[in-house]
Amino acid sequence: LAKQGGNSRFQFYVASIDQEIRERKQLEKDLSKAQANREFHLVYQPQINLENRRVIGAEALIRWEHPVRGLVPPDDFIPVAEVNGSIVEIGQWVLDQACWQAAQWAADGMPLRIAINLSAVQLRRDTIVDDILDTLERHSVPANRLELEVTETSFMTNLEDAVEKLHRLHQAGISIAVDDFGTGYSSLTYLKRMPVQHLKIDKQFIRDLLVNEDDTRIANTIIDLGRSLNLSVVAEGVETAEQEYYLTQRGCKLAQGYFFSKPLLPDDFETFVAGFHQKIVENNV
Ligand code: C2E
Ligand code: MG
Ligand code: MG
Ligand code: MG
Repeated sequence: LAKQGGNSRFQFYVASIDQEIRERKQLEKDLSKAQANREFHLVYQPQINLENRRVIGAEALIRWEHPVRGLVPPDDFIPVAEVNGSIVEIGQWVLDQACWQAAQWAADGMPLRIAINLSAVQLRRDTIVDDILDTLERHSVPANRLELEVTETSFMTNLEDAVEKLHRLHQAGISIAVDDFGTGYSSLTYLKRMPVQHLKIDKQFIRDLLVNEDDTRIANTIIDLGRSLNLSVVAEGVETAEQEYYLTQRGCKLAQGYFFSKPLLPDDFETFVAGFHQKIVENNV
């Protein structure tokens, strides 16, 4: 390709792009087989009410156990799935699986709300509202047991369309959260028009909450915005007792993060909830 003795950096560059394209193609190929091969599973991260320290729900997060590469993080394959369209099928599997789990937990006396991440690509589909409502019905899960996490970018391509769909979902009883709030194209206009009930403070603002003044101010602003718009605010990525303490006294009502628990397999999640609530009982007697 590149001339010998020529620019070796250029040669290296071409080789690495070539490599990247090949890897990406391989990833897409593997991704297309992942569902049939049952390589996906969901883990659940508890969401905590900071006022009474009870688990109010769980966020379902997808995991891909690749036969050769091992665990591939969602940030590495969800964007690929969004570009090639396979997120539609994957997203429907997530919804189905999460509703099945919600029904199981309800039957076990643990009627928790489950939040799933809905991709902008899914929201753009004409059939998405019916698909979601059908899935709930199929599993006999009441709509108020489901929360959809959408990002600000979902509203950007076609605001009218997104507003209309989210209204229908909300009217059916589903709650809507804006995920990664503050990192996207935040506009107060859409917040006013969107039927959203929760704002999730992105974990990048929580990480250095107590050491970086900008992050403190951003978190404070989101908490205040939530209060004035009557939206509940969820802090994500809470890792320390100090962060929890700060957020609690600042008026943030909900949180999730490694401080409470990492995302867990269903059995471990049940054990966690039982133990967490037992601790409250013990501390109160
Ligand atoms: P997200 O929805 O903002 O999820 C929060 C991410 O933060 C999760 O990463 C979670 O494991 C991680 N996390 C939770 N607590 C902590 C903490 O205390 N510290 C740190 N450092 N991280 C924490 P995960 O599971 O790797 O997911 C990454 C992203 O992939 C998600 O961000 C979401 O955008 C996307 N994703 C995951 N599952 C799905 C899915 O089923 N469908 C779609 N469309 N996207 C998904
Ligand atoms: Mg999320
Ligand atoms: Mg998030
Ligand atoms: Mg995210």
